Amino acid sequence: MRTPLVAGNWKMNGSRETIKELINGVVEGAKVLNGIDIAVCPSAIHIADVTEVTAGSNVAVGSQHACIELKGAFTGETSIDMIKEFGCQYAIVGHSERRTIYGETDEMVAKKFAVVKKTGMIPIFCIGETLEEREANITEKVCAHQIDVVFALEGDNAFEGAVIAYEPVWAIGTGKTASPEQAQAVHAFIRQHIAERNADIAEKVQILYGGSMNPMNAKELMDQKDIDGGLIGGASLKHEDFLVICQAAQVSI
Ligand code: PEP
Repeated sequence: MRTPLVAGNWKMNGSRETIKELINGVVEGAKVLNGIDIAVCPSAIHIADVTEVTAGSNVAVGSQHACIELKGAFTGETSIDMIKEFGCQYAIVGHSERRTIYGETDEMVAKKFAVVKKTGMIPIFCIGETLEEREANITEKVCAHQIDVVFALEGDNAFEGAVIAYEPVWAIGTGKTASPEQAQAVHAFIRQHIAERNADIAEKVQILYGGSMNPMNAKELMDQKDIDGGLIGGASLKHEDFLVICQAAQVSI
């Protein structure tokens, strides 16, 4: 039995004041939740404020991004060691916004994945197809390739201690959600693809769905056999909505 994970991706939103209100609301509401993993991923500059509030709670913190290099002359970047020092346990890698807007390739994402694992943190590895790729019936091929680049770098046990987020690009921030059946089919494929390298890791790895998950559709999605929680963008910006999604994860156990 896998523990569900609900992770909020706050993206580039909020001020110090609104972020403090948001995290206080999440931590307060999460006190009555158990049996699930909960995480929030604020912007890097808000991480210290957030970890101050989450200390001692059941809410973990993650970064949305980390530099591919460990240290040195990389103006504007934040290293994974810096992120870890501020109390983060997770780091999102390969989010489609990083891939499309900032040109992160599969190879760069795989290298970041390796850097995050090396520090003992948990990568939330995002994969997924664009609308054109879905319409061309190559969703599985695209996801398999994104995964295989990580296997090529890290070997057959690459996904031990990692989280995968299946995020169809056409569903992110668009209000269009994959149907539970569509999402389950891809999640099952991802698990099977990992099982071809290591069946034990495939059985244990948490595979989250991301793409316009909200309080209305969360339960139906998380009731699917291979959907182990969600990576939530827009709906994680209101603590009430985020907590409803966490409750849906709790009842899906
Ligand atoms: C995301 O950006 O990871 C995401 C899933 O966003 P949204 O929930 O807003 O679609």
